[in-house]
Amino acid sequence: MPAPLFEIETSPALPESADVVVIGGGIVGTCAAYYLARRGVKVALIEKGRIGAEQSSRNWGWCRQQNRDARELPMATESLTLWDRFAGEIGQDLGFRRCGLLYLSDDDAQLASWAKWRDFARGEGVVTNMLSPEEAANRGSATGKRWKGGVFSPTDGTADPARAAPVIARGILKAGGTVHQFCAARGIETAGGRVSGVVTEKGTIRTATVIHAGGAWASSFLNQYGIRFPQSSVRSSILSVAPGATGLPDALHTAAVSVTRRSDGGYTLAISGGARVDPTPQQLRFARQFVPMFLRRWRNLAIGGLDGWKAGHETLARWKLDAPTPMEANRILDPRPDPRQIAETHKRAQRLLPALKAVPVAARWAGYIDSTPDGVPAIGELTGLPGFILAAGFSGHGFGIGPGAGHMIADIVTGAKPIVDPAPYRPERLEGSAFGKVAEF
Ligand SMILES: Cc1cc2nc3c(=O)[nH]c(=O)nc-3n(C[C@H](O)[C@H](O)[C@H](O)COP(=O)(O)OP(=O)(O)OC[C@H]3O[C@@H](n4cnc5c(N)ncnc54)[C@H](O)[C@@H]3O)c2cc1C
Repeated sequence: MPAPLFEIETSPALPESADVVVIGGGIVGTCAAYYLARRGVKVALIEKGRIGAEQSSRNWGWCRQQNRDARELPMATESLTLWDRFAGEIGQDLGFRRCGLLYLSDDDAQLASWAKWRDFARGEGVVTNMLSPEEAANRGSATGKRWKGGVFSPTDGTADPARAAPVIARGILKAGGTVHQFCAARGIETAGGRVSGVVTEKGTIRTATVIHAGGAWASSFLNQYGIRFPQSSVRSSILSVAPGATGLPDALHTAAVSVTRRSDGGYTLAISGGARVDPTPQQLRFARQFVPMFLRRWRNLAIGGLDGWKAGHETLARWKLDAPTPMEANRILDPRPDPRQIAETHKRAQRLLPALKAVPVAARWAGYIDSTPDGVPAIGELTGLPGFILAAGFSGHGFGIGPGAGHMIADIVTGAKPIVDPAPYRPERLEGSAFGKVAEF
């Protein structure tokens, strides 16, 4: 069952040429195309399925600075400002609200690590408040239990994953860009050692700049050109319940389960970090780089099945540009939700928040979350392929920082001062990557 999604219109005709072609209509690709279109750049956004239909509509909707890696904190902060502006700029609601995020815990070590992060964040100008047991009990009163403490980040918020990328894509159209759904990019063309076009299933678009924001499909695409991008994904399963439960926090994280209020008044329920690792050819290829990350997260990970292998997003196969590719065989990566994870999540949520017992399950779904080995996205022009900008590997937190990432990409492309320092995101930092000069093709 797919996650709820707001469906939008497609531009009537594929352009013959564009200043920039963006591959991938998730939150990152739509934001990059949006900020380019608003600067008067002729941009075409190419999406093999529907805008937002993969990770970007399947997430919890958290837009957070709280507990963010130091490298990503500036982008998270800038993104919140950008989230604030979208509705006014586009004239449509994306469900973004600075509702604050609440974390509750009984674990002294966890509380100490949150306090340490609070001290670091204060130096960066980010407000986050540690909660005493009384304050935690008060904010978490819907749980009906005592807590050792917690943290509340009042300037963080949530947006509606079903609406965000599609509404931003509407903003691209409004600003003069084009949006092409059910149109897979099969590959690129080069001339004189740099990008000269994008080959899609509906024709070729001449362009000197391509942004690949293809989420979990990025590495297999780059593999066509002998470029090695270490990327791996895990399958996370979550559910939503119908509106009707009252008195719950808007966004609550605990070690057992997390809940997030949806725009329709229902709630999304999930276990943080809980996922299945479905072996794929690409996972085997990059296993060495990902072992440290998987070891750190082993408590919440379980071995899955052949779902990922069959889905084709992590294939090592080479494909031709004049025949259907794996991206056309699988328009929307819609993996099977894990019934065990769903049942466990529901049980824990009802135990934590008894008000949830009164409302039925509305939907269940899963999503492949794509990661880099160090958990920070790879964003930047590839050294060996001028004109090709990679923006993938958002490692489970790309929804919140998508606007900042898209803005930074638009800055890089137009030669503007980047909204944040792009250095921490350089793809070349990744161990085991190979972005060096590619052969002419
Ligand atoms: C269960 C779950 C919970 C999460 N919770 C959060 C959260 O609360 N907060 C947060 O910040 N993040 C969260 N995330 C992570 C977040 O959703 C992702 O990091 C983010 O959506 C990635 O965006 P993206 O644009 O890179 O990729 P995607 O949204 O996956 O988009 C990539 C798009 O590219 C298209 N594509 C790929 N190849 C091609 C091609 N060759 N031609 C044309 N189109 C192509 C795909 O069809 C897809 O639509 C969560 C993810 C999941 C699955």
